[in-house]
Amino acid sequence: MSRIEPGQIVGRRDSVNPPYAPSASAQSAPEAPVVRPRLTFIGTGYLGATYAICFAELGYEVLGVDVDAQKIASLAAGKVPIHEPGLDEILRRNLAAGRLRFTTDYAEAASFGDVHFICVGTPQRADGLGADLGYVESAVTSLVPHLTRKALIVGKSTVPVGTAAWVEQLVGKHAPRGVEVEVAWSPEFLQEGFAVEDVLRPNRLVLGVRSAWAQQMLLAAHKGVFDLARTEDREVPVVVTDFATAELVKHAANSFLATKISFINAMAEICEVSGADVSELARAIGYDDRIGKKFLRAGIGFGGACLPKDIRAFQARAQELGAGEALRFLHEVDLINQRRRSRVVQLAAELLDRQYGPAGPDLTGFRIAVLGATFKPGTDDVRDSPALSVTRKLARAGAEIALYDPKGMANARRELPDLEYAETMFDAVTGADLVCVLTGWEEFRYADPQQLAGLVRARKVIDGLNCLDQPLWTAAGWEYRGMGRPNPL
Ligand code: NAD
Repeated sequence: MSRIEPGQIVGRRDSVNPPYAPSASAQSAPEAPVVRPRLTFIGTGYLGATYAICFAELGYEVLGVDVDAQKIASLAAGKVPIHEPGLDEILRRNLAAGRLRFTTDYAEAASFGDVHFICVGTPQRADGLGADLGYVESAVTSLVPHLTRKALIVGKSTVPVGTAAWVEQLVGKHAPRGVEVEVAWSPEFLQEGFAVEDVLRPNRLVLGVRSAWAQQMLLAAHKGVFDLARTEDREVPVVVTDFATAELVKHAANSFLATKISFINAMAEICEVSGADVSELARAIGYDDRIGKKFLRAGIGFGGACLPKDIRAFQARAQELGAGEALRFLHEVDLINQRRRSRVVQLAAELLDRQYGPAGPDLTGFRIAVLGATFKPGTDDVRDSPALSVTRKLARAGAEIALYDPKGMANARRELPDLEYAETMFDAVTGADLVCVLTGWEEFRYADPQQLAGLVRARKVIDGLNCLDQPLWTAAGWEYRGMGRPNPL
């Protein structure tokens, strides 16, 4: 096995010995990896655009590839089509420096890149819980026939275990004769809203590889990350492992986070029927380091383009592998999460003095201000957003909705075109019979309840994230309902 150059990486490497027996192709591929490989990022959505832009910032020559010509035109013109703090400026700087380009042309991508990162979506299938791998398949089969020299294809998309091996087969089928193409998998852990920081300064790298060449190529493709860490006297832990483990790491991590959120939301349900306060309960158990405080805030549950579909895809894959029982608890995690969304509608019925029948309440004639559309603050992403799911339920119950979100309005409008969209938080609450805070943007958390009280028709508020200062709102005359908290006296 070839050695990593001294000083090539800064950072602890949890596994210095790769868990593969170098394959015949690796042994017969003596050529040294390119020192600074040229990189393509295929799929320039939340993940791929951030990566392409940040890796250009790290000094790599980068090509972003997408089938969406509009997205590519926008990026090439210096406009990031998503909201991600800091990204616009880095994009423009690197376009100007000539290190970063965008294309829809796979032949161009193939001739440009040494390492091709697959960053396309893996949404839930329309016909079940499993992941739709159609975009991965299309990206690989569009790229590979154009390759003319040895290249590495690295999956970054979140996929069910077994996908990397399947991609290897696809590559074998579609690669031109005599062109060696290897596959690796390196799952991604970035959080929207912190994506730039997470990509430049990852808290770990997981490299699923089958040959020393692939490992070295991947390390070379991340040299900029290690160099940056060295200048900041930081470590970037690297876990070098096999395909299956690398794939499972991501599903396991997301399942753990989802379980933690649903755990505290289950406690909220118990608090609601026993008169306890889940915020205090969470604080009290969180002092134990083994439990920790993070991800222990009860609310309307998790959403976004990752956690919900990932725990479902994980269950579906486990079922296919004959180990469905092991992940049955994730079904409960999902159900708890869905129930929290309905809880807001129950609270709305209670506050508006409407009966909650088998078909839900009739909220006709009430105007409800919804504050928040994105699945969390710091992003414009509304995919599987709990806030929008609750909004949809309230609208279906007959309420007239006025929605405001600082960044997610355009995306929300595409999902729910029939709502009224307010220009500001103040416009949204004006004349409202009920205010629902459904995304924890600072603008809402630190809103002045006294000021808002002067605008609404009735001082009634549902705090879907337990993020408001409840005594302050109560003192300003608001009837307050939180999640898993007793009603204030
Ligand atoms: P996204 O929908 O924002 O972006 C996917 C992009 O791929 C789109 O721009 C789409 O046009 C493009 N695409 C589809 N088919 C293509 C093809 N054949 N060739 C080229 N481009 C193609 O999705 P995302 O949020 O960036 O997520 C991508 C993957 O990363 C998913 O597997 C997701 O689970 C994973 N992930 C996402 C995040 C996140 O925070 N968004 C974090 C970690 C992992």
